[in-house]
Formats: sequence, C-alpha cells, structure tokens
Amino acid sequence: MNLTERDRQYLWHPYTQHKTAAPPIAIVKGEGAMLWDDTNKEYIDAIASWWVNPFGHSNRFIADAIYKQLTTLEHVLFGGFTHEPAVLVAEKLMELLPNNQKKLFFSDNGSTAVEVAIKVALQYFFNKGEKRTTIIAFENAFHGDTFAAMAASGISFYTQAFEGMFIDVVRIPVPVRGKEEESFAALRAAIISHKVAGFIFEPLVQGAAGMVMYEAEALDELLLICAKNQVLTIADEVMTGFGKTGKTFACDYIQEKPDMMCLSKALTGGTIPMAITTFTQELFDGFYSDDINKALFHGHTFTANPTGCAAALASFELLQTEAMQANIARVHESHLAFEKRIRTHTKVSTTRVLGVIFALEIKTEGQAAYYGSLRNQLYDFFIENGIILRPVGNIVYILPPYIISNAQLEKVYQTIEKALEIV
Ligand SMILES: *Cc1c(COP(=O)(O)O)cnc(C)c1O
Repeated sequence: MNLTERDRQYLWHPYTQHKTAAPPIAIVKGEGAMLWDDTNKEYIDAIASWWVNPFGHSNRFIADAIYKQLTTLEHVLFGGFTHEPAVLVAEKLMELLPNNQKKLFFSDNGSTAVEVAIKVALQYFFNKGEKRTTIIAFENAFHGDTFAAMAASGISFYTQAFEGMFIDVVRIPVPVRGKEEESFAALRAAIISHKVAGFIFEPLVQGAAGMVMYEAEALDELLLICAKNQVLTIADEVMTGFGKTGKTFACDYIQEKPDMMCLSKALTGGTIPMAITTFTQELFDGFYSDDINKALFHGHTFTANPTGCAAALASFELLQTEAMQANIARVHESHLAFEKRIRTHTKVSTTRVLGVIFALEIKTEGQAAYYGSLRNQLYDFFIENGIILRPVGNIVYILPPYIISNAQLEKVYQTIEKALEIV
C-alpha cells in the first residue's frame, strides 16, 4: 500500500468530506517554497501551508535552534515554573508589539489564542461585578474552530450544526470601501442594545473569507467607538502577524491600539504549533487580586513549550534580517506588477494587494459557493500544474513564503492566467 492508501485506512482530515474528496497527496519532502510528493512531483507552496511558513520549508536556522533546545530542555510545565526561552520570547515580542501590550499568555494554536482573549474579555467585567456578556464580531469573520472562536466566526457552514449553543455574538458589516458608515453605525447600535464586553476582528484582512480587505482609517474609527464605550478590542492577528501585510503586525498601520492581540500561524516559522495572546496592563490588573477566584483559570498542558519558544525566537531573528525584509518588499512589488497585468482581464472582477497577499475575484453569475464547483475546478487545475493554491469560492489568492523566488512567483502568476482560460 502507498501512503495515500494507508492514510485512508485510519485518518480523518480537516475540512474534508471523505466521500467526495480526492485522496490526499502524500508529501515526503519540503525545501524553501517547494514540496515534493511520493511520486517525486514538485509543488510550489503558494499559500505557505495555510499561512504558517514565511521562511521556507525545512529551514536550517530554525531547525538548528529547535535541535539545540530539544537537547537542552525539551519541555517543562509552566504552572509554577519558567524558563529562558519563554522569557526571551516575551522580551523580544514586547519590542515588536504596539507599546500598550504589556503581558503575554501562551497557548497552542490560533483558536486557543482567540478562546483566551474572549474569556479574558468576559471575565474582566465579571471580576469587576459588571454584567457584560456579548461579543461583537464581523460578518464572515474566521477566528477558529473551538467554541468561543466558532461563535465569533461568521462563515455559516463552519458553524451551522452548533447554532444555539454559542456565547452571545452580534455581527456587524466589514467596513470595506463604501460600507464604512454602515459598519460604524452597526457597531454603535450593538453597543447601545447589548451589554458588550469586547469586539474581535481580523485587522485589515479577513483571511478565510477570501482575503477581504478594508482600510486602516475605518478600523481606527471602530476602535475609537469601542474605546469611548469601554468595549475591549481584540485584534486577531493569527493570519496577519509577522510580516504578511508588509509590516510586522497589521495593527502597525493603525493609530488606535487594541487591548488584546492573538498570534499564532507564522509565530514559529511554520514549525511547531504555538500561540500567544497579549494584553494591556489594565487587563492583567483586572485579574490581579488577593482573591484566587479572580485569577485566569485557563491553561494548556504544553503552555510555553520551550522548543516552540526556541523556534519562535529563531523566527523573530529571521524576520528582522534585512534580507527577509527585502523579500517581503520584493514579493509585494511583484504582486503589484501582476495586479496591473491581470486587473483588466475580462474574467476578473476585482484585485487587491496588501504586503505579500494578493487576491483576485473571478466574475461569476450569482454567488460562488465556498467549496463549490468553480473552486474545485480551479483547485484541481492548480494541483495538476504543481501549484498549491486553495481558492475560496470565486476568489484566488496567493500568500507565499517570503523567500519564494521570482521565477517561482512568475510560474504561480502564469498558472493563474492559464486557469482563467479554462473557467
Ligand atoms: C487560522 C486562523 C485562526 C485559527 O487558528 P488555528 O491554529 O487553525 O486554530 C484564528 N484566526 C485567524 C484570523 C486565522 O486565520
């Protein structure tokens, strides 16, 4: 039996209808922006393996840091203990984050980073004896697949089986161009009609919705409204963090600062699952008390895993090199040039670029389903041609590792152009 057949015996894959899905491709090796399957066919990983991998596969610098940590201290519990990798991650992140962020809590993935932020927002008011139980979130948001994260998420087929079992969430429109006022008004109305604890958002780009983008000025206005009403704000930078938007964080584009930030995905350079939620001093102080009941009773077994921390430290170092910053700028420029050349294509309705993220929408009659036939036709075409892209409905986006070469990028662009001819 080959790997794919052995996989089929026991394994259950994410977001997969096993009855209709094609068998998974068995990947045996990765290097830089490339992956190889068990028949030695090569693929360009044009979505950085679900947005986690900025520096390329099998990166030696991160691998060496991980090895060194594994042979020094692989793991120790974080309840009652600490270690240098965790302290260093905190010290380093404090230099990179907006300067109102003062405390940091480790968990394991983007969903748990969001879960922690939502629980902190709710308990912060509980600790003060104030009843605030509603969270505000954007339409078509994606914040993860655990329960509070799902509640905040607005992509309906991800969550429809669980309707009625969620914490209270009020949804407001995304302030995309032309819809800003509608979004501001909806936020104001929600704050008046509900006891709102927090507002969670993907800053500037909604990833899973299909790289939907909106302006920093609009986000600033929403954050101002929240600040005036003591509504806590949670920037979910799980996708946008660590350079994707061209700055270290999407929040670096705004004047107002969020109360909390959620980080994961590229945090460890795509190597080890780890996440961090960060907080203002004021939030931390809301739990600081002689009363043990006011503590944050949340934790995960592998909290602050030293090996993950070592990978994160190596990643921060790589991100800040001149060479990596130049790569981010190069990919961005390259996307802009491609945008110019594809924008007027008869089958393209809109294009957008931010940092290393490029997206185009294909003209369709009516709405294309998220996992519909157009999406599947495109996905299969890209795979056939050795490019990993996962279109969302009629939206094709690229979010490559920053180290992708110009030749590899050009192949991705040309394959997208060819795909437009077959749809
Ligand atoms: C991927 C993602 C999550 C969930 O992260 P997981 O590690 O998959 O749990 C949360 N928020 C955003 C914005 C994401 O892109």
